[in-house]
Amino acid sequence: MDKQKRCSFCGRSGSEVNLMITGLNACICDDCAREANRVVLENSKSQDSFKMNKLPKPKEIKEYLDQYVIGQDDAKIAMSVAVYNHYKRLEYESSKSDANDVEIEKSNIIMVGSTGTGKTLLARTIAKMLVVPFTIVDATVLTEAGYVGEDVESILSRLLQVANYDVKAAERGIVFIDEIDKIARKSDNPSITRDVSGEGVQQGLLKLLEGSKINVPPYGGRKHPEQKFIEVDTRNILFICGGAFDGIEKRIAQRLNTHVVGYGAVENAAQVDKKNLMQYIAPMDLKSFGLIPEIIGRMPILTHLEPLDKSALRNILTEPKNSIVKQYIRLFELDGIRLEFEPEVLDFIVDKAVEFNLGARGLRSIVETIMMDKMFESPSKRIKHLTITLDYAKEQLGKSGANRLAINR
Ligand code: ADP
Repeated sequence: MDKQKRCSFCGRSGSEVNLMITGLNACICDDCAREANRVVLENSKSQDSFKMNKLPKPKEIKEYLDQYVIGQDDAKIAMSVAVYNHYKRLEYESSKSDANDVEIEKSNIIMVGSTGTGKTLLARTIAKMLVVPFTIVDATVLTEAGYVGEDVESILSRLLQVANYDVKAAERGIVFIDEIDKIARKSDNPSITRDVSGEGVQQGLLKLLEGSKINVPPYGGRKHPEQKFIEVDTRNILFICGGAFDGIEKRIAQRLNTHVVGYGAVENAAQVDKKNLMQYIAPMDLKSFGLIPEIIGRMPILTHLEPLDKSALRNILTEPKNSIVKQYIRLFELDGIRLEFEPEVLDFIVDKAVEFNLGARGLRSIVETIMMDKMFESPSKRIKHLTITLDYAKEQLGKSGANRLAINR
């Protein structure tokens, strides 16, 4: 290294640094190169990650979802369109030259469907595709300010945490609010007494959903111990709410029936698919379930998820990119063992999930129970190949699993 050369940034000579990189008319030492790298990284992080040409089209979003989520086409299409429009709107807002231009409102989403049908999975998969900060909150832990529990602002604290306190990134993240049905007020009529757990929380959520500047306490905020609140603008945060809304089918049926009496609806009544009433869900059903109209109005995209039948469960076991079976095969592969399941074993697992009423959530715990002993023994054995037979699966589940799984029902 030429000891006479000087770093064009800090001015130190070659003898004072570890490494000097020489360019055409300038030099940079290793320290300055590292510093420059840090600045570049920091800058690119806080810059807009959404450029129109990078935003996937609704069809592409759906195709991506198809790789991970089985069925649920209606929900996938509604989500793809809503998410596409949401981020397109962000592009538009930032490029809008005239304040009088048409303002596109954001479209938060509400998904209705039994537990374990893929609501969280859909939201999580979309966030993964878009590489935006994503957090899941359980509405049941939320309470009105001043009561034991978490204030609604805590939702934003979590989003900030996952965004590593990059406020700009958090402000375009996605929040999945699970169990939104659990904060429904107990009756359709506004109550005379205050309903702490229900309506108050809904009122609190309202300001988040409609988009406003909220002062957020930076929980666990290592980076900002001195700072009391961080201001987060929720205008561009996409809220996706999910809930099982148990018993809502009855309300849908009631509504459809009353309409049957009405003029012109008689012929439609014959076409109503009574087995799957969820597909007819409308905002007024949410209202009669106990969501306040203001909240419903802030979630204009209402979609439903289908109950999963046996063939859907069977597909969930093997089809998704990171299906449970694929995960186990890979786990064993890492120990040099080729794992196979007899097809009847997969049918058996599905039957048990249905029998125990565990839905898709149960598939994993059943497979786990069947595989536990093999996972314990196999790494110490010198085997190259392992086939799980129906007899073995039955034996394992019979031994300990069935009772344990049934308790979780
Ligand atoms: P929900 O939020 O509707 O209660 P989840 O999305 O948490 O249900 O689903 C629980 C698990 O079940 C998921 O992690 C996934 O493994 C599986 N699962 C549920 N529905 C589907 C689906 N439609 N496609 C693929 N896997 C699914």
